[in-house]
Amino acid sequence: MMGRTHAASGAAVWLTGCAVVDVGAATTLIGALLATMAALGPDIDHPNSTATRSLGQLPHRLVKRLAIKVYAATRTSQDDPVTDGHRGLTHTLVCAVVVGVLAGIVAHTLIGWWWGGAATVVGCAVTIGWAVGAAGDALTRRGVPLLWPLRIRGRRWWDVCPPRRLRIRTNGVVERFLLYPGALVATVVGLIAVAVA
Ligand SMILES: [Zn+2]
Repeated sequence: MMGRTHAASGAAVWLTGCAVVDVGAATTLIGALLATMAALGPDIDHPNSTATRSLGQLPHRLVKRLAIKVYAATRTSQDDPVTDGHRGLTHTLVCAVVVGVLAGIVAHTLIGWWWGGAATVVGCAVTIGWAVGAAGDALTRRGVPLLWPLRIRGRRWWDVCPPRRLRIRTNGVVERFLLYPGALVATVVGLIAVAVA
């Protein structure tokens, strides 16, 4: 899935959630910004993603190395023997929670004295955005190991995504003309809802 679709869907999901649970304008907007950025996070394991281009090749290489190690350590005999690290560890819900908790701790440490809710808002927004990013790639042909380390049909990596027939092509017609515009519209509607509330 393309970076712009990830970003727009991260914002859309956060804003839709805030339309249901009233958390106030400041939390809604700060959270939307964080969820937008966090939705790009899982693709740090790709050498040419928006996240890698923004943060540089060093974080990308470190994440890739870690992803390959964790894959090797936890794969079953049913999983492929090797991986290039892409669409691995960072595309799991476990990773979304871990990154969210770490971001919450950093936020609390830096600005907790000034904003009591920093840890909760930052932690939730980053976790949700990251999970939306990973789940978005679950819709594409290659799929993602979203539920790692659960063992599904003998495998811990992949095989938890929609049936292959229903998966879409990255930057294909469905993504370009349905998902991306849909997420953009939801984002704009959400922002207008915050403005008039
Ligand atoms: Zn992606």
